Amino acid sequence: MKFSNLLIPTLKEAPNDATLPSHIYLIRGGFIQGVGSGLYNFLPLGKIVLDRIKNVVKEELDMAGAQEVSLGFVTPASLWIESGRFEKYGKELLRFKDRKDNDFVLGPTHEEMMVNLVKQSVKSYKQLPLNLYQINLKFRDEIRPRFGLMRGREFLMKDGYSFHANEDDMKREFSLMEETYKKIFTRLGLDFRVVEADSGAIGGTGSKEFMVLADSGEDTIVVCKSCDYGANIEAAKSMPYICEENAPKANFAKFNTPEIKTIEDLSSFFKINPYYLVKTVAKKALYDGGKEEIVLFFLRGSDELQEIKALNSINANDLIDINSDELEEVGLVAGFMGPFNLPNDIKTVFDNSLVGGINLVCGANEKDYHYVGLDLELEKDAIIDDIVSVKEGDKCIHCGGSLVYTKGIEVGHIFQLGTRYSEPLKAEFLDENGKTKPFVMGTYGIGVSRLLAAIIEQHHDEKGCLWSKESTPFDVCVIVSNLKDEKQSDIALKIYDELKDKKINVLIDDRNERFGFKMKDYELIGVPYAVIVGKKVEEGIVEFVSRDGEIMKEIDISNIIEAVVDIV
Ligand code: ATP
Ligand code: MG
Repeated sequence: MKFSNLLIPTLKEAPNDATLPSHIYLIRGGFIQGVGSGLYNFLPLGKIVLDRIKNVVKEELDMAGAQEVSLGFVTPASLWIESGRFEKYGKELLRFKDRKDNDFVLGPTHEEMMVNLVKQSVKSYKQLPLNLYQINLKFRDEIRPRFGLMRGREFLMKDGYSFHANEDDMKREFSLMEETYKKIFTRLGLDFRVVEADSGAIGGTGSKEFMVLADSGEDTIVVCKSCDYGANIEAAKSMPYICEENAPKANFAKFNTPEIKTIEDLSSFFKINPYYLVKTVAKKALYDGGKEEIVLFFLRGSDELQEIKALNSINANDLIDINSDELEEVGLVAGFMGPFNLPNDIKTVFDNSLVGGINLVCGANEKDYHYVGLDLELEKDAIIDDIVSVKEGDKCIHCGGSLVYTKGIEVGHIFQLGTRYSEPLKAEFLDENGKTKPFVMGTYGIGVSRLLAAIIEQHHDEKGCLWSKESTPFDVCVIVSNLKDEKQSDIALKIYDELKDKKINVLIDDRNERFGFKMKDYELIGVPYAVIVGKKVEEGIVEFVSRDGEIMKEIDISNIIEAVVDIV
């Protein structure tokens, strides 16, 4: 294609809200254009890249036996009410009414829609298994849309759903999808890691995320230095910690601790390791139907509450902060809360590490007092769960190796769903014995538009994008140094035509602009190779360069086509 005909509105400056390289370069390079918070238009270059990525996704999925469909974006709310998610999904779900007062949602994910599709057309085990996917728009009214395509409100997702007669077959497909996803992200040139994950609002049992490793990633992932264990911090596990310091021995007593509230202050006041302090975190939990209540989470003073684990421990929809006035209303004192001598009817959750805890120090639920020498005896029906974050240096549950944090961008997520949706939506089939059974399901997502951002986060330099082979909008760019020089433009056009004949995806920068300006745009856009046609055409020579700086050589015009074809 010819640069002079294309709409590639490159910019010198990025918008003020753009902080990540991918956001800056995708806008400056004329790939995308902001329309509103979390909403973007794809311009010609962006659309080419998007289609190339979609194509890699489609090729691999089709090869794995999945079938592409396309579902409606506007979804009747009735399906969401039936599945129980109309309320549970929270504010990210955009709900609206039509002129007849019917409720609808804009699909943030399509489990309900796909179950409905299959329910109407699949009746027998003979039609199973099935893996159906689409590459379509999603809408999530994200609380903080940011980082360009990374966290949009409207975005493109590949969402796939598989249907099986039994759990084993679903697990087989889950593994096949894991392998297929690995192929997709490898083809796109990404350095990624597959990690264990929390299942979030989608529900179900086991799930895995595909994390592109990048410092700018919004997810913290825990990885083992010695084996290949990796998990999102929301789901990471470690070996129980053993505190080397002895427990502070004391008889159970109430102790005056005036204004001493923080773990740090308490630990220096009592001269004890924070491990022996009980930390209390108070939150307000929100549930279906608008129900809310205060919940106290108890953990070791040396640990931090992991909010997603905490949320899952009580099956709530959200946890929000609570202030000291609200605590006072129910008889609790901020800074002096603890598990012993609590006001009635306060819901409590204990971290696993407190089971059997002795010689502990905790708040006395009275201003300026703590208990010392507390031996915890938890009631039979106490809620006990893993609610704390794994820390760097903790030991791996698989090999005892040291765990460390790293940052990742979630580009894919696969779930073993089971019958979480087929049961409430009554999606059933007849098995070999003529018995009615709900479908056993898996679900598989890829953030297709987020992938553009993830690729650039991993592949850029201070000048612009460095697209990978299978994502680049063009394989090579022919740059005419001086368009007014007839010889230069003739030869450039000839190279361009010949490359096209060889089925090379080529862009020619035939704009009547200064050479330096065109080079800057070339570097910003990030096509992997360029043929520069300049003054040396007089000597029968052009320059061949690679965007990453590895290749810079002069080549005889008669050899240039072969050289490009070889490398591309
Ligand atoms: P996140 O934790 O980043 O909010 P999620 O876990 O809610 O994502 P899923 O429901 O697993 O997302 O959706 C499947 C995929 O869609 C994700 O792995 C991600 O790549 C992509 N995705 C999710 N939310 C967005 C968004 N707001 N903008 C762009 N892509 C998104
Ligand atoms: Mg996810």
